[in-house]
Amino acid sequence: MLSKPFYLSLIGSFIMSMSGAQQIKNEYVPIKQPWSDYGVHDETRPRPPKVSNRGAVTTKAPEDAVVLFDGKNTDAFTKVWRVKDGVMVASPGSTDTKQSFGSCHLHIEWKIPAGREVNGQAGGNSGLFLMKMYEVQVMESHTNVTYADGQAAALYGQTPPMVNASAPQGEWQSYDIIFEAPEYNDEGVVTPAYVTVIHNGVVVHAHQKYYGPTVFRKVANYPQTHPEKAPIRLQWHNDPVEYRNIWVKELSK
Ligand code: MG
Repeated sequence: MLSKPFYLSLIGSFIMSMSGAQQIKNEYVPIKQPWSDYGVHDETRPRPPKVSNRGAVTTKAPEDAVVLFDGKNTDAFTKVWRVKDGVMVASPGSTDTKQSFGSCHLHIEWKIPAGREVNGQAGGNSGLFLMKMYEVQVMESHTNVTYADGQAAALYGQTPPMVNASAPQGEWQSYDIIFEAPEYNDEGVVTPAYVTVIHNGVVVHAHQKYYGPTVFRKVANYPQTHPEKAPIRLQWHNDPVEYRNIWVKELSK
């Protein structure tokens, strides 16, 4: 009969080898981006430098804008997200605007609630998807470190922001997103989508190309066909990220 310590160490090494095998199985090897020197969600990609900022820039909706949320209700959206003290709280299930938009200026203010335990992509994650397809990442990136193309204001899986203009948890932040929808003809895409993003008053993308709709662990590509307009999606990623003062202004091209 085996002595007890030896028997236990055998079980221990079996468990270790199982978890080792699991790790190898789950290991993600970034696929090279054709447009950069890095892979998709590449942990070795340099993080953008942190810049100081004054937090959210609150801008009232212009008269000709569509107000999506002004603190009262979520009627402009397909899902009922919790509204508390004039703030819309991300709740189970991503929500879409009932109205569709193409090229537009989206103003939105967001906050990671204070005291969130954040680790990489978990704990402080949401996102804005223009046309339900093109994500501008919402993330706790003040102290939390994740891969550069997945941090706050990244065009997820494609392009990190030029600088990190994040504010701390518990403080309001703002995005002004000037989105130019892609143009298509019968053959496919003619002009890709472009975006300019201003985070807390700091330009973090200037007329940056989207290489296709947002995808996870894949290289983005344009589909063969594309709608002219589509809803704007607010992502539910298991974290109660808060939103206020959301408006959109359509831009004719
Ligand atoms: Mg996200």
